[in-house]
Amino acid sequence: MSKMEKEIIKSIKAAGVSEKQIKRELEVAKASFGGFVKNPDTLAILIAKKHGVPINTPKRLGKFRSIPEKMDISDISTGMTEKNIITSGFIIKKKKGKTRAGNPKVNLTITNGSSIINTSVFDEAYNSYKAIKFELFDKIKFTGAKIFEFKSDRNDDMITMITAGKFTTVEKLNKDIKKALTDYSDADVGTLAVLSGIVTETSENAYPGCPDCSKKGDAKDTETEFECECGYSGLPKEYIITNAVISNGEENNVITIFPRLGVTANDISDKLITAVGKKNDDKLSVIAIRPYDIDLSHVRKQESTDDEDEEENNSDDTEETSEGEVEETSEGEVEETNEEDEETDKEDEELEETSEGEVENFSSNAKKLRNKIKDVLEMFPSGIAKSGLIEIIKAKEKVKRSKIIRVIKSLIKKGEIEEDDDKNIKLTD
Ligand SMILES: [Zn+2]
Repeated sequence: MSKMEKEIIKSIKAAGVSEKQIKRELEVAKASFGGFVKNPDTLAILIAKKHGVPINTPKRLGKFRSIPEKMDISDISTGMTEKNIITSGFIIKKKKGKTRAGNPKVNLTITNGSSIINTSVFDEAYNSYKAIKFELFDKIKFTGAKIFEFKSDRNDDMITMITAGKFTTVEKLNKDIKKALTDYSDADVGTLAVLSGIVTETSENAYPGCPDCSKKGDAKDTETEFECECGYSGLPKEYIITNAVISNGEENNVITIFPRLGVTANDISDKLITAVGKKNDDKLSVIAIRPYDIDLSHVRKQESTDDEDEEENNSDDTEETSEGEVEETSEGEVEETNEEDEETDKEDEELEETSEGEVENFSSNAKKLRNKIKDVLEMFPSGIAKSGLIEIIKAKEKVKRSKIIRVIKSLIKKGEIEEDDDKNIKLTD
């Protein structure tokens, strides 16, 4: 019997009702509610009311929670301690950790495209996070999270972050980070930008830095002790900065990967990647990078040949060419490989004119190509430059450019993929 129940019964007794009578009434009340009312205090209050005994019930709210407030992470600033908020962002960093109680948690850095904030995900929110299987650049939504402020260990700065725990719901939103961020070439210096393409070159630079915070600071070489701004004093550690050239088929851009990301040149060489970072004058300082696993081992070889026509007329290609495709070397087609803008419906007409057998042969190859194109586009949810797409397919399939263009065109016609005014191709939503 709870303390409160005891007190209520005492009050009812004081009003002249026998304890036996009270207990019987309590049992009847319990039975008539079919066990629906689980808290005995509630039933005792009911009996007290029936006998006209005034009861002072405590005015505390139970586990009712207010409706969460939706907040954009750009609006979260130092000094805020709001509870029960809804917020969302793209994951650009994930780091596993443990709570003070020793339970698993993950620290996520999320961005909405302009602001960045750290989050700590534990308890029920962590379980959902694990079950949903989030990847870098996925958009995560928290309902019922908390804005938390704490003092940094390093300096006395107050750090504001989001915590997601027992009462926080976690969801994965089907949004693309490339839509939230400005494309690298359009971005202003100093802003967050996104870049996708194939890593065609890498180089590494070593530097001595602080083992605690990885800053270069005053460190001269790995033999001489130094003092870091962060408080570290002692021998520096050797760090590797990786520079990489990314090609999307139209332009080449340089990215710089700092050692704290834990991504090496080897991890990204010849791979399709998406990188998010801050735009500098001439390169992107990477905050997050995601390599996609597609084998592009022969991309480099093809890129060394600048003249497309020369490549298409070499003997290897001729051997591969089937009868029907010989037509493709006709003047009209060669022109087209030089300038995509001048695509005409001629291709489709030609296709119709060819004999049945040839159409069939083309169809089976085209089906394979169509699937390949769609596979690659899956990797670029917000699209890829048409020329970049063609480069990738060419590297993977060793087929001629004109044939790829033809298949792309047929996919657009079918409405399975779409091309925008900037010649970006993406899967139709
Ligand atoms: Zn340091």
